[in-house]
Amino acid sequence: MNILIINSGSSSIKYQLLEMPSAKIICLGSIERIGSKEAISSYKTDHVKIEKIYEIKDHKAGLKRITSLLLDSEKGVIKSTDDIDAIGHRVVHGGSSYTKTTLINEEVKNKIKNLSPLAPLHNPANLEGILMAEEIFNTSKQFVVFDTAFHGTIPVKAKQYAIPGELYKEKGIQAYGFHGTSHKYVSEKAIEYLKLKKSKLISIHLGNGCSITAIKDGKSLDHSMGFAPSNGLVMGTRSGDIDHSIIFYMVDTLGYSIDDVKELLNKKSGMLGLTGYNDLRDIESEASKGNNECIIALEMNAYRIKKYIGAYTAIMNGLDAIIFTAGIGENSSLMRQLVCKDMSYFNIHLDDAKNDLRSSTIREINTENSKVKILVIPTNEELEIAKQVYNLIA
Ligand code: AMP
Repeated sequence: MNILIINSGSSSIKYQLLEMPSAKIICLGSIERIGSKEAISSYKTDHVKIEKIYEIKDHKAGLKRITSLLLDSEKGVIKSTDDIDAIGHRVVHGGSSYTKTTLINEEVKNKIKNLSPLAPLHNPANLEGILMAEEIFNTSKQFVVFDTAFHGTIPVKAKQYAIPGELYKEKGIQAYGFHGTSHKYVSEKAIEYLKLKKSKLISIHLGNGCSITAIKDGKSLDHSMGFAPSNGLVMGTRSGDIDHSIIFYMVDTLGYSIDDVKELLNKKSGMLGLTGYNDLRDIESEASKGNNECIIALEMNAYRIKKYIGAYTAIMNGLDAIIFTAGIGENSSLMRQLVCKDMSYFNIHLDDAKNDLRSSTIREINTENSKVKILVIPTNEELEIAKQVYNLIA
C-alpha cells in the first residue's frame, strides 16, 4: 500500500511516499522557506537527488511542485495520482475532540478551520494542504494525525490554567501540547535504544517551532506549548513565554491593535525579532562574526531550554535522558553545547567531540561518566503518521 505523508509547517512542507507495511521510502523531500523567492525544493528517490531554489509563494504552489515531481516522466515515482492509496496529513491543533488518527470528512475539516485562531501559522496551511490533496489525489483516502494527540495524558494539574474553572470546563481553555507526533516518535526510539523499562525523558524539539516535553514511562506529563503553539521556548518567529501584561500594555498604552500584537508575537518575534534572521544557520554565522544581537539571541534560546530541563527534572523527580531533535536539535552542535553547558548538578555532561560528529541515525553524545544520556534522534513524523494511517486502514 502506498501512503503519501504531507507535513505542512508554518513555512515548509515535508513529504514522504512510503510503501507500507514495509516502511520502504519510495521518495522523500521538502520545500523550505515557503513564501520567499529562495524557497528550497528537495526531492530524493533511490536513483535521483534534486535540490533547487525557486520562488514558491505559498503552500498551494509548494504542493503543486511536489505533485509534478512525483509524476515526472523521467524522475517521478508514480504514473498516476491513483497510485497513491492513502494520504496522511499532519495537523497541528485538534483541540480535545481528536486524540486519534482520523479519516477526513467535512466535520473534521470544519473543526480544523474553527481551531485556526489557536494555531494561526499552522491549521490554515494544514487545511490548505488537505483541500489541495483532495483535489489532486481524488481517489486516495485522506487521514489526519493531530499534533495534540500525544499530549492527552497530561494531568489536569499541569494542563489547567489558574483562571476561573468554568473556562476550562465549559470553554476548553487548557494547555493542549504540540509536536506530539515528533515527541512520541523520538521518545519511543530512546526507550528502545536505552532498553529502559521505566523511563524519565525530556524531549527537545527545536525546529522552526520549538517545544519541550517531560515524558514519563512513554506518556507525556508536561509540555512547554499550551493552549496554542505559542508558549514556551524561543522559536523562529514566535516569542514563547511572555508576561500577558505586556499584551495589555501594548494595546492600552502603546496603541497596538489586537491583530498587530497577534502578528507581532507569532510572525515577528522569536529569533527573527531579536536578530532580523529567522534561520538559525544565518544567526550562527552572524554570531561567529561577532554580531552581538545574534550572540545574545542564541544565549537566550539556550537559557530558556535549560530552565525547562530543570523544571521537568523536578516534576519527574529524576532524568534518564534528554533528546535533541528536529532541524536545530539534530544539526546545531552549538545550540546543544549551549544547552548542556554547566549542567553538572543535573549529571548532564556533553562530550564535545561526539557532539561535533554528524550522522543521520540515533547517536549518544554524552561523556562516559554522564548519568543522564544525551541523545540526538532524527525525528520522523512522516513514518509515525504512515504507521498510524496503515494501522487504521489495516
Ligand atoms: P524544522 O522545522 O525541523 O524543519 O527545522 C528548520 C530549522 O532548522 C531551520 O529554520 C533552521 O533554523 C534549522 N536548521 C536546519 N539545518 C541547520 C543547521 N545545519 N544548523 C543550524 N540550524 C539548522
